Amino acid sequence: MSKTTQFDAIVIGSGITGGWAAKELTEKGLKVLMLERGALVEHQKGYVHEFTPPWQAPNDGLPERELYAREYEIQSKIERGAFSWANRHYWINDRENPYEQIKPFRWHRTNVLGGRSLTWGRQSYRWGNDDFLANARDGHGNDWPIRYADLAPWYTHVEKFIGVSGQPEGLEHFPDGHYLPPMEMTALERALKQRIEGKWQDRRVTIGRVANLTVPHNGRGQCQNRNICNRGCSFGAYFSTLSSTLPAAQKTGRLTVRTDSVVEAIDVDPKTRKASGVRVIDAKTGQRASFKARVIFLCASTYGSLQVLLQSRSALHPNGIGNHSDVLGRYLIDHHGVAAFGEIKGFEDRNYKGRRATGILVPRFRNVGGQDADADFTRGYGFQGGAMRDDWTNTAALTDDFGAGMKHSIARPGKWMAFLGAFGEQLPQAHNRVVLNEKKPGNYGLPQLSFDVAYGENERKMAVDAGKQAEQMLKAAGAERVQLVPSRALPGVSIHEMGGARMGHNPAESVLNGRNQVHGVPNLFVTDGSAMASSGTVNPSLTYMALTARAVDFAVAEFKAGRL
Ligand SMILES: Cc1cc2nc3c(=O)[nH]c(=O)nc-3n(C[C@H](O)[C@H](O)[C@H](O)COP(=O)(O)OP(=O)(O)OC[C@H]3O[C@@H](n4cnc5c(N)ncnc54)[C@H](O)[C@@H]3O)c2cc1C
Ligand code: SF4
Repeated sequence: MSKTTQFDAIVIGSGITGGWAAKELTEKGLKVLMLERGALVEHQKGYVHEFTPPWQAPNDGLPERELYAREYEIQSKIERGAFSWANRHYWINDRENPYEQIKPFRWHRTNVLGGRSLTWGRQSYRWGNDDFLANARDGHGNDWPIRYADLAPWYTHVEKFIGVSGQPEGLEHFPDGHYLPPMEMTALERALKQRIEGKWQDRRVTIGRVANLTVPHNGRGQCQNRNICNRGCSFGAYFSTLSSTLPAAQKTGRLTVRTDSVVEAIDVDPKTRKASGVRVIDAKTGQRASFKARVIFLCASTYGSLQVLLQSRSALHPNGIGNHSDVLGRYLIDHHGVAAFGEIKGFEDRNYKGRRATGILVPRFRNVGGQDADADFTRGYGFQGGAMRDDWTNTAALTDDFGAGMKHSIARPGKWMAFLGAFGEQLPQAHNRVVLNEKKPGNYGLPQLSFDVAYGENERKMAVDAGKQAEQMLKAAGAERVQLVPSRALPGVSIHEMGGARMGHNPAESVLNGRNQVHGVPNLFVTDGSAMASSGTVNPSLTYMALTARAVDFAVAEFKAGRL
């Protein structure tokens, strides 16, 4: 049975960007429907394993290999320990939701209210003007229709609400924001900072800027440094949709949330050429419904939004909404890299690594403001890393001893280790793309997404350089036995996926304009990573939030003026 209901605005997706769209739209007076494909998870109540101690973990906390291989083949491979027995229920079931990999490709996604705001690493950086100018300067990709100055007030707006702890550095290409007190560096990180900055004047080592509260903020509690954030946090001490934007939107009394609602397509009225509503499949019953609104914000994550746009075909948009020039689904970008590890001696009198919900960061220093004479690649990379001391949780697995010998060796603190992992910019290239494969039906009978993405020669050269520089910095800081390991070498692994519906000056080169409006469909806004025209060198979600808040401000003004 089909059902139609009218709202001022519909927000598709409830992750980092959907939460922001809902908060801003409702606070500005609009009646909003939020549609989320995944299941309901409630703040606090829904974090079922938040307080489960390791000794009560299912399967003794060991990976349930058969289950993971059968149901979570892709998600269970996620790096940085973000998938575990404690939060498996947040992640999508890969068997039920397949996709095609023309070349090896990881697609990491959740399937719950709150999206990946529940599981993200919370590293929150502004992009600098160089990032928005990059495409125009070297001709790879299209010119961004906005500059840093357009986004700066919106970064401020977002930071003040979410709470970001960090240290201002006064660097033009790595802009400072509004920060809560920074987290502390370890003894070795402080030494690393002194030694690297002492040797290279163009390099800075700073504490990671992270959306964890070092002091109580906006009614949310202070971080207790438990480092179990990806289970969910009842203190609301890190930014997520559930802890922050959703309660703000609900407080207005103007938000309706509908979970288990898979958006299949957006309809466009052939007379007005505006989006008229969305078609939804109920994830539990398979029943179809449609909802109408004057404004639509598509915030279903980069590939989720591309899927909806590609599926939204009509006489006006036969190849998907906004696909005027075969750009939709192309120019996919992410962060690639390499990592270096080394042991540093001389800190044996400083005990233990402690717990802390961030690491350190070395902002980009290669090809800043122009091409370095010794660089055989274009663009640049930054490093994120840390320096800490091993404890029994690592050494127990490494020791060859048994019995008393084992007890003795794990009771002693281990080595001090430092590591630096590069986040390299990927050039936007038309051949890196995603399409619908009509011959392969996925969940709900919808076509599977088919990814054809690979890193190219520039990324390879950049990774070689990043490896060399990381090794030199660690050695200059006193590291021995430095090892390089591939990291973020497989597309998708970074989980900073961007592009596919990029912003630009005109429909011949882009899907969205400088306000995140689909060219030719003025009441449809796409504000997640698919809007990005280049990848920069730092984590992107803060930029998505700023873009979303800015687009809502514009959309509501247009709505109130009767133009949407
Ligand atoms: C382990 C991990 C660590 C990360 N660390 C960082 C970090 O430190 N800093 C950083 O900036 N970024 C980080 N990221 C990336 C960050 O999580 C994403 O950039 C961010 O969540 C994107 O926000 P979004 O709203 O676009 O997508 P999401 O947060 O993924 O939300 C999209 C929502 O849309 C829903 N949806 C999808 N399709 C449909 C549909 N058809 N109908 C209805 N609903 C739909 C999904 O279920 C989901 O809830 C990390 C990600 C992971 C997984
Ligand atoms: S480390 Fe902080 S934000 Fe993360 S779960 Fe613990 S208290 Fe919450």
